Amino acid sequence: MKKLNFYSGPAILPPSVLEKAAQAVLDFNGSGLSILEISHRSSAFQEVIDGASALVRELYELPTDYEVLFLTGGASTQFPLIPYNLLPQGGTAAYLETGQWAENAIKEARLFGNVAVVASSREANFSYIPKQYNVPSNATYLHVTTNNTIYGTQLHSIPQSHCPIVADMSSDIFSRPFDATQCGVIYAGAQKNMGAAGTTVVIVRKDLLGKTNRAIPTMFDYQTHIAKGSMFNTPPVFAIYVSYLTLQWIKQRGLAKIGSDNQQKADTLYAEIDRNSLFATTVTKPEDRSQMNVTFKCNKPEQEQTFLDLATQNNCIGIKGYRTVGGFRASIYNAMDLAGVQTLVQLMQHFEEQYA
Ligand SMILES: *Cc1c(COP(=O)(O)O)cnc(C)c1O
Repeated sequence: MKKLNFYSGPAILPPSVLEKAAQAVLDFNGSGLSILEISHRSSAFQEVIDGASALVRELYELPTDYEVLFLTGGASTQFPLIPYNLLPQGGTAAYLETGQWAENAIKEARLFGNVAVVASSREANFSYIPKQYNVPSNATYLHVTTNNTIYGTQLHSIPQSHCPIVADMSSDIFSRPFDATQCGVIYAGAQKNMGAAGTTVVIVRKDLLGKTNRAIPTMFDYQTHIAKGSMFNTPPVFAIYVSYLTLQWIKQRGLAKIGSDNQQKADTLYAEIDRNSLFATTVTKPEDRSQMNVTFKCNKPEQEQTFLDLATQNNCIGIKGYRTVGGFRASIYNAMDLAGVQTLVQLMQHFEEQYA
């Protein structure tokens, strides 16, 4: 029986995407070859990667001065590549520290220049998003994590800044309508909301590149991948194909509908956490709550294992919270439907009836 997948990533994918991907592993579009066997130089794959970048452009209505890349190495590889490609020698980059992924990005940026951490919620275990801060006037860019996958917090608006915004959107890309032109660079590992592990989408405004005065190794230089259409070397063919299918599914539903569905799902789950006497939120301010990763805990920690067991017995998996936060985290990405969220809510109600 198919399980209800609340894992944070790799994460749930739409059933139709899984079916098409499975079919393509056996025979890609009637070609007599598996998607795993075809050449990345074939016209069949060229259509896939062109189609996937066109959908990224279309969904975020990207102007022509933005490029779309499908790279490898996960979002974590972008942590060093961002300063490598953007930050001039001796320059300063600003970072908003809202969680562990931001900390990792900061650590890498320090290898390339000065880092100004404009604000941090670390002292409160990242349970809120800092909002009052100044970005140094000499900063080349301000890096933000739009959704903090581990802590269940989300930036519901992009901060105003005199310098370009670089956004790690790994866990909320294409989760709602979004004005991408607020950002100079957006990057996201595909495995949370737009496909399988193995590829990372990078959206970059071209005029930000080529200004660092650094020698950048070929594979780490965005301009290499722009010039070669993400095919300087062998791209992750299958992962890009799964993203293509997922992007088609997103387009079919439309970002507006996806956004309102995600809102309704999140509202449903937060309403139960607030109502249920056995559970409590882990996010300090309601306005920072994530629509993608809903974190919560038991008021009595000794009850947590019992609820986890109940969830597992009822086919709901992946709700154990990250170890530095504890409690629970239900990841309710695009492919999780309202019925799935309602199933979890019913379990919480059942749990209250039994154990309150
Ligand atoms: C998962 C995640 C990452 C790391 O992604 P990898 O692809 O595993 O490197 C980075 N940032 C955010 C916000 C994430 O959720």
